Amino acid sequence: MGENFKAHSLLQAKNIMTRLGLDEYRGEQVFKWIWQKNATDFLKMTNVPKELRTFFESRYTITGPAVAAVRQGNEDVKKYLLELEDGEHIESVFIREEKRRTVCVSCQVGCPLGCKFCATALIGFKRNLYAYEIADQVRVIQADVDDKCTNVVFMGMGEPLLNYEQVVAALEIISSPLALSIGRRHTTVSTVGLLGGIESLLKSPIRVKLAISLNFADEEKRKELMPVAKSNPLRDLLRLAKAYSLKKEMVTFEYVMIDKINDGLRDARSLLRLLRGIPSKINLIPYNEHPRLPYKRPADEKIERFYRSLLDSHHTVVIRKSRGQRILAGCGQLAGDS
Ligand code: SAH
Repeated sequence: MGENFKAHSLLQAKNIMTRLGLDEYRGEQVFKWIWQKNATDFLKMTNVPKELRTFFESRYTITGPAVAAVRQGNEDVKKYLLELEDGEHIESVFIREEKRRTVCVSCQVGCPLGCKFCATALIGFKRNLYAYEIADQVRVIQADVDDKCTNVVFMGMGEPLLNYEQVVAALEIISSPLALSIGRRHTTVSTVGLLGGIESLLKSPIRVKLAISLNFADEEKRKELMPVAKSNPLRDLLRLAKAYSLKKEMVTFEYVMIDKINDGLRDARSLLRLLRGIPSKINLIPYNEHPRLPYKRPADEKIERFYRSLLDSHHTVVIRKSRGQRILAGCGQLAGDS
């Protein structure tokens, strides 16, 4: 069987053409067929000369993930279980809200971070995804819902900054006008807070939104529930976050609210103290419970009280609407058990 043409970036696709003595725009054409028209067959690429089509067909394949299961919460949330070519499974979520159509993508099969409250940690780490496997989640979902997606968030399974190169390559496919054409400002990478990865992003020319899963203002609690925090001290994390806000885009701090663990007014005050001087948004995520984990979502009144106590700061604060909880499609509920 031939090699999957999708494994090539746009630049590589163009190089393939020049090496064959062809114009590089042939590479652009094929790229567009694959990413914009969902082509799986070179023979159907009608604007490509016939002998080239047959040549490509004999040499390459165009393959992708198969939808193994779909669960729909309501009209606006759908969770996809996708089967990759090696038989591994990942989950992706489609969320429609007002004019926005967001795909939440996975970047690894499982996750090695071991955050105590997150269901993905339960499966452990299997492997990194290739760039095209990340971008394919958006493409497959667009085809399924028959609509163009407007936003992409890297908040599914895995840690984007542990799969840096492939994530960067996926961002290129996602933003390219010849592929998925979703602007960088509509794309968010969410990280547990890995210093090295954030530094690399800072130095790179990439302009993507950055969300940092802070979750606990108390460093000891953070270390206990998010083991990677032990080797990624808060001080340095906050310094990099500030630099990111000043140099690139304003960062968002995610704060998962867990009953009796980090939902008190004292926690809210510590949070504000910690973020003082850092231009940033705060995104409160009420904990999504999972049958295999002991943690609970705080009562609505407690969430509301916490939220209100943050309001007279100069941070924009939002409570993330919990979507797809019933179908275990909420943040931190993705465990491949659709
Ligand atoms: N590894 C990356 C991206 C995946 S998690 C990261 O840590 O940011 C996306 C978000 O879901 C993170 O902010 C994480 O803290 C949060 N999360 C994990 N488990 C959750 C749960 N059960 N309920 C609500 N949010 C959760």
